[in-house]
Amino acid sequence: MLGRCMYDRTMHYEGTVYRPPSEANSLLIQATIGCSWNHCTYCAMYRDKHFRIRPLAETLDDIAAAGRSHSQQVRKVFVMDGDALAMEVDHWESILRTLSDTFPNLRRVSCYATAINLLAKSDGELERLRSNGLNLLYIGPESGDDVTLKRIAKGADYADHVEASSKARRAGMKQSAIFLLGAGGVERSVEHATASARLATAMDPDFLSVLTLTIIESTPIHKLAERNRFQMPPVDDLMHELRLFVAEANPSAAIFRSNHASNYLPIGGRLPRDRNAILEMIDAALAGDVSLRAEWSRGL
Ligand code: SF4
Repeated sequence: MLGRCMYDRTMHYEGTVYRPPSEANSLLIQATIGCSWNHCTYCAMYRDKHFRIRPLAETLDDIAAAGRSHSQQVRKVFVMDGDALAMEVDHWESILRTLSDTFPNLRRVSCYATAINLLAKSDGELERLRSNGLNLLYIGPESGDDVTLKRIAKGADYADHVEASSKARRAGMKQSAIFLLGAGGVERSVEHATASARLATAMDPDFLSVLTLTIIESTPIHKLAERNRFQMPPVDDLMHELRLFVAEANPSAAIFRSNHASNYLPIGGRLPRDRNAILEMIDAALAGDVSLRAEWSRGL
């Protein structure tokens, strides 16, 4: 999701910035540039950026600038770019303390995080971050299928994601887990969907969402698709992946959404509470009784 920030007139951003749909009303702070991993075969977001942490003074200047015009309005802050959790804890703490000093009504600070980032931090460090205000992580395993995870070069497997997620939970952080329909291709479509549901259950996030793979030209997966070494499942199969995922994912009480612009069927509810209603909607779409988002109106 491309970022648009309602407070951004005074902020400095480098390159295209991205944020989750649920951070549409958040102050976007770009404390890092790019992604420290930057190898996922389907991801084009930060290919033009070399990962670096912005000098602390620059980030604090941005926060001060936003504070001068919006100190009372800011309730949510999303710290960018692709895996800002990679920053050292001391650096994070300075940012988090400045945010809470600047915005008295601040309720939530969040960022994207990878399993690699989480596993690199100790329980004590994660607790320090949470106690200073970092209370929501967006983690995108994309798949629970180890074969798929290896092929898309996620850098972490099923077990890594379970461990990473339990570390975040032990630290008291909320989690939003993101899975990617189509990531297993035609060959691993069913395995990808069922293993993703299993991983969603094991991670037991507060928020759960699916996106749909979009093959972008500059990416390795595009080259594989050109050589016929990766085949994107047809729309019907993607809907079956969604159905399998919803039928089998069993978190305790997750808010589930497929409202990202890449999806063919935007739906939502709580899992497991609303499972039957969501499945009925998917079945209606499979039967052609509910129209799917047109290809031209899908987005990243
Ligand atoms: S970890 Fe996220 S931002 Fe980084 S390359 Fe993978 S999908 Fe892209």
